Amino acid sequence: MQAEIVFLGSGTSMGVPTLGCSCPVCTSSDPRDSRLRPSISVLFRDGDSERCILIDSGPDFRQQAIREGLRHIDAVLYTHAHADHILGLDDLRPLSFQSSGKIPLYADQTTTDVLRHVFEYTFSESNLYPYKARVELRALEAHTHLFGADFVAVPLLHGPLETVGFRFGNAAYLTDMSDIPEASFSLLQNLDLLILDALRRTPHPSHSNLETSLKFVEKIRPKSAYFTHIAHDLGHAETENELPSHVHMAYDGLRIPIEL
Ligand SMILES: [Zn+2]
Ligand SMILES: [Zn+2]
Repeated sequence: MQAEIVFLGSGTSMGVPTLGCSCPVCTSSDPRDSRLRPSISVLFRDGDSERCILIDSGPDFRQQAIREGLRHIDAVLYTHAHADHILGLDDLRPLSFQSSGKIPLYADQTTTDVLRHVFEYTFSESNLYPYKARVELRALEAHTHLFGADFVAVPLLHGPLETVGFRFGNAAYLTDMSDIPEASFSLLQNLDLLILDALRRTPHPSHSNLETSLKFVEKIRPKSAYFTHIAHDLGHAETENELPSHVHMAYDGLRIPIEL
């Protein structure tokens, strides 16, 4: 089935421009150098319904949803519980009031524990406030079937933390990772589109850099690759110019058709 990925944000945890910084990228007039916190949505038709699956709900979610005209969310898949991936959860509230059901949030145990702690007022059964987010935590399994689409969890390493990426149809989204365990490569075969973390040029303890990400692309051999979770060290135009022709820099608002 045909689907579309929307880059809600392609930036690193601090966003670009980064507060207090006046470097050439942070002051660039190229809109592709403005990067909100990392997240994508996956849009597809399911009978008469338009489905929208969100991967991570970062602190810029409200602004991203307004910009992209997202009017409902059917489910959220979480990669891990760092602030730049979860802090927009409360902004699911107005969208969660649209139907009588709850928006399912799929997360591994570590992420679930943090979400329950940070959003205690949301998940507390004793809090009877009627306008808290109508959401429901569900355990993330190896496969998550959503409206006819299969989202496969791809184990990743983000420094010492175990995170997940997702494979869906002919595409994969691997944000926040410094390494890909050997067993995960079997989940990444025959990709048309690989989206992966490429923070900056210099090495970082918990993120892949440009050089390492290019090696992952060589090993996985997707038809095309897009880098995301980008810091202010990398200007869009000049970095794009030095990449192989099938590897690109993602930018906020970029839409790519995929097959689920
Ligand atoms: Zn992150
Ligand atoms: Zn992270």
